Amino acid sequence: MGKIIAIVEHKNGTITESSFELCRAAKEIGAAMGCGAAAAVFSNDDSMAKEISKYIGEVFSVVDAGLASFTPEGYAQAVKALAGAQDVKGVLIAHSYNGIDFAAKAAMALGAGIVSNCNKAHVEGGVLILTRNIYNGKIQEDKKVKTGKFVATFEKGAYSPEAAGSAGTVVNVAVSMGDLKRKIIGIVETMAGSIDITQAKVIVTGGRGVKDGDKYKEMIIPLAKKLGGEYAATRPVVDSGWVEPSRQVGQSGKTVTPDLYIAAGVSGSIQHIAGMKGSQCIVAINKDPEAPIFNIATYGIVGDLFEVIPAMMDKLG
Ligand SMILES: Cc1cc2nc3c(=O)[nH]c(=O)nc-3n(C[C@H](O)[C@H](O)[C@H](O)COP(=O)(O)OP(=O)(O)OC[C@H]3O[C@@H](n4cnc5c(N)ncnc54)[C@H](O)[C@@H]3O)c2cc1C
Repeated sequence: MGKIIAIVEHKNGTITESSFELCRAAKEIGAAMGCGAAAAVFSNDDSMAKEISKYIGEVFSVVDAGLASFTPEGYAQAVKALAGAQDVKGVLIAHSYNGIDFAAKAAMALGAGIVSNCNKAHVEGGVLILTRNIYNGKIQEDKKVKTGKFVATFEKGAYSPEAAGSAGTVVNVAVSMGDLKRKIIGIVETMAGSIDITQAKVIVTGGRGVKDGDKYKEMIIPLAKKLGGEYAATRPVVDSGWVEPSRQVGQSGKTVTPDLYIAAGVSGSIQHIAGMKGSQCIVAINKDPEAPIFNIATYGIVGDLFEVIPAMMDKLG
């Protein structure tokens, strides 16, 4: 029946959170389809294969000097090599900048169909159905997978990571990389030194309701620090220059999935919700009881944030 393979994404030798989520997706989709599940690591060494094997029973390690840095071509060739060595039914890829960059090439290499930006999957009558957001998240559509093989990209937070009971096996897969048209000669970090809010377990976000940059500093940053988390913002707050762009949450900012997300003075636009709806617990503080943020909040506090946040700070001591 073939295998469902989660492609592991990594940056500077560190596996991204999305990769652990994809392992869970591969196991669940594989079980529902009666297929096996595995992960694949493409790199110039096999050090990360062992780490990901704690999350899935089988890991394919494709090692080549040409895979030292991510290139869409290199990754597509690695997928092809994998499909030559294994019976691949489906390939799951993170819906990240790099993932989007090579997913279509990987589908071409496999002769597979592709569905992008998925957030759920289920099987009906033996047919895999992938669910994805369209029209900026206003509508969810179901796509039936009718091709023999498929590639799917999954948005961050679609699945929760789940460690396996014991470490899985690592299998080396040989690849003979052709000439790559694109060569990475160096990477310039445009946001060097800026914080990565996507890794935070607690996030406090301030929206336009915070009024100005000074009040943002008085209300939002201390609460985030008190809770041992990070502070973040909606787009108008970033556009007003109260906070740096690397802290923007939403469609044109970061996608975050913390354990606790506090949104203060945030209306809950579709574009903002797109970046935080996967949070485990959402607490919304808004003086307007009709604010859309309350539709997705776990706990809603209807009130003035300038009274609610100081009261929270008092309770926290
Ligand atoms: C293509 C595109 C991409 C976009 N990408 C993003 C994105 O990535 N991220 C993003 O956030 N937005 C994005 N936007 C903008 C988005 O549409 C909204 O305009 C934005 O999210 C609204 O931000 P806000 O909630 O801070 O402000 P508002 O919508 O103005 O809401 C402010 C809220 O504060 C409440 N409030 C006011 N005073 C108080 C008080 N004293 N106490 C408590 N509550 C109070 C109000 O009731 C209101 O609900 C995008 C828009 C477009 C078109």
